[in-house]
Amino acid sequence: MPTGLVDAPTTNGHRTTLGDFELNIFSDGNYYLDGGAFFGIIPKSMWSKKVTADERNRLVVGCNSVLVRTGKNTVLIETGIGNKFDERTAKIYEPEAKLLDNLTEAGVDPEAIDTVINTHLHFDHCGWNTVRTSAGVKATFPRAKYWVQKGEWEHGQLQLERDRVSYISDNYNPLIERGQMNLIEGDREIVPGVSVRVYPGHTRDMQAVIIRSGGQTACYISDLIPTSAHLDLLWGIAYDLFPLEAIESRKRFYAEAIPQKWLVIYTHDPAMPWSYVRDDGGGKYSALPVR
Ligand SMILES: [Zn+2]
Repeated sequence: MPTGLVDAPTTNGHRTTLGDFELNIFSDGNYYLDGGAFFGIIPKSMWSKKVTADERNRLVVGCNSVLVRTGKNTVLIETGIGNKFDERTAKIYEPEAKLLDNLTEAGVDPEAIDTVINTHLHFDHCGWNTVRTSAGVKATFPRAKYWVQKGEWEHGQLQLERDRVSYISDNYNPLIERGQMNLIEGDREIVPGVSVRVYPGHTRDMQAVIIRSGGQTACYISDLIPTSAHLDLLWGIAYDLFPLEAIESRKRFYAEAIPQKWLVIYTHDPAMPWSYVRDDGGGKYSALPVR
């Protein structure tokens, strides 16, 4: 496995270096998802060998953001669930909403973040983009430019029966109205060393974030592979809008990530936020922990 990367658990997350960059995982805390929904077409007899559900068939799910310090830029990838749920929804998911506290505890000033990237706009990926105050909706990171795919935003605006509950417009529309969120089309570099790449499947325009420095690469793969238990080719989540495309996107991702030994970062893994990936053949893959 690549040398030079050390996973250093911190009081509220994990830290490693990637070339000249420093990567910190900050969690918004855990929440609950239905086990069946989390593993799509995979029967419980199989997924229950990897994860344990509670008496209501719920799984504890993580909510990992990444802070990337490149030396020039301070980039936050994903902003968790936040605190915008009504009481009924909060009872279902029981979010902890700890991201801002965890950043503060680590001495990260929200004003220091100049770039925020959302892989897509489901509520568990952009929740702390903004905060509601008595004076209206404010950007949590006032000096940051925010980035998301235009097609993802357009889809959220449609408010379709299938997935409208996933889109809370206060997480992004006020930023777009103020010109603080950039709606982009396709793959591109966001700041030097940090780029986005569209991998359709979970949504049509979900983008992963690729971080490169000093010959090393990390990829925040978002809901294309939400945890290290989802690596096998067919282990997608039931929320995927385009499951066949998700399989093709996973193949395209593995074709680079495995031979090039990318560090793969998982949004929803409560225990292992990142790992390398090994191809075990026959559509099976395993996570190799960072030591
Ligand atoms: Zn999602």
